[in-house]
Amino acid sequence: MIQTGTYRRPRTLDEALGVAAAHPGPHRYLAGGTDMMPALQQSGEDVMLIDIGGIAALKHVRTGPGDHTIGALVTLHELTVHPVLSARFPALAAAAASIATPVVRRTATVGGNLLCENRCIFFNQSEWWRDAIGRCLKCGGDICIASGGKKACFSELVSDLAPCLIALGATVTLHAAGGARTMPLEQLYTGDGVKPTVLAPGDLLTAVHLPDEDRRAVFRKLRQRATMEFTSLTTAVSVDAQGAITIVLGGVDPRPVVVRGTTADDRAALVKKAWKGARSVENDMLSRSYRRDMIITYLNESLQQLLP
Ligand SMILES: Cc1cc2nc3c(=O)[nH]c(=O)nc-3n(C[C@H](O)[C@H](O)[C@H](O)COP(=O)(O)OP(=O)(O)OC[C@H]3O[C@@H](n4cnc5c(N)ncnc54)[C@H](O)[C@@H]3O)c2cc1C
Ligand code: SF4
Repeated sequence: MIQTGTYRRPRTLDEALGVAAAHPGPHRYLAGGTDMMPALQQSGEDVMLIDIGGIAALKHVRTGPGDHTIGALVTLHELTVHPVLSARFPALAAAAASIATPVVRRTATVGGNLLCENRCIFFNQSEWWRDAIGRCLKCGGDICIASGGKKACFSELVSDLAPCLIALGATVTLHAAGGARTMPLEQLYTGDGVKPTVLAPGDLLTAVHLPDEDRRAVFRKLRQRATMEFTSLTTAVSVDAQGAITIVLGGVDPRPVVVRGTTADDRAALVKKAWKGARSVENDMLSRSYRRDMIITYLNESLQQLLP
């Protein structure tokens, strides 16, 4: 059963930040709820929910000139049908369209996707299951079960938007009671599977910004079924007009793995660097060795598509 200490539905950003700052106990922002509600159901955690779904200012898309701003509450479905965004960033539209199911995509938001919890087959289980097998680092234990006892958590970043947006040069804006800050999207992620993002209590992600530059991108995703399934490997590769290449991996590390190079670099060396950067362990329905082999296949295919 979900226990929620208190439920609040602010109408403005300032009100939401004020509610969070004034609340002494644990609180969570609630956007579409598609990631958080099942997680709360599993853990039974007692938190105050601050439902940001009524804040109209977070639902906007502003396109060009210079850059494009996507509000945190824009849904994944809207990303796939927005006339300017889907035409200008087809890889982003493809990434959004690949996520979950049509019904989930109409509820799930861009902000919630970037901040959805990392996953692991030893963690995404009921409390009863976790107790039976022995708790791991991510749920109160002191070792990682998937890695055979290491003192680090390798739960996977599963956001499909994150690799794609990073390859497209995205930045994000976070608001807190003390003010706002904007950072490259990749800096949102810590690399620690127990606490995968840098968000402090009260931080609210308000918008994603994409530069309006000449950059082509390719998105690929490996999973067991072509729908409803979370990623086992996501790759996003981009190249801009100056020949700068950005490779980003998801689903094989607690954070997005980012490798940068240029068209003058040896392609095999760039691919190998990405492959080596992925700290994947046996914590997915697909085996570690298969996922690692597919990194090389997907990256080679994507580079070939962008730079035939
Ligand atoms: C069946 C199923 C399949 C899925 N498959 C995929 C998949 O293939 N690929 C993929 O990428 N995702 C997948 N997902 C995850 C899905 O993308 C996320 O559930 C969704 O994007 C989360 O968005 P939300 O608005 O529902 O977030 P919520 O569930 O409301 O929130 C998620 C987290 O983000 C925090 N949060 C949300 N918005 C903000 C904000 N603006 N500022 C600060 N904190 C915030 C919440 O506090 C919570 O911790 C799947 C989900 C389901 C249910
Ligand atoms: S990677 Fe290890 S510590 Fe992290 S959730 Fe899985 S078993 Fe737990």
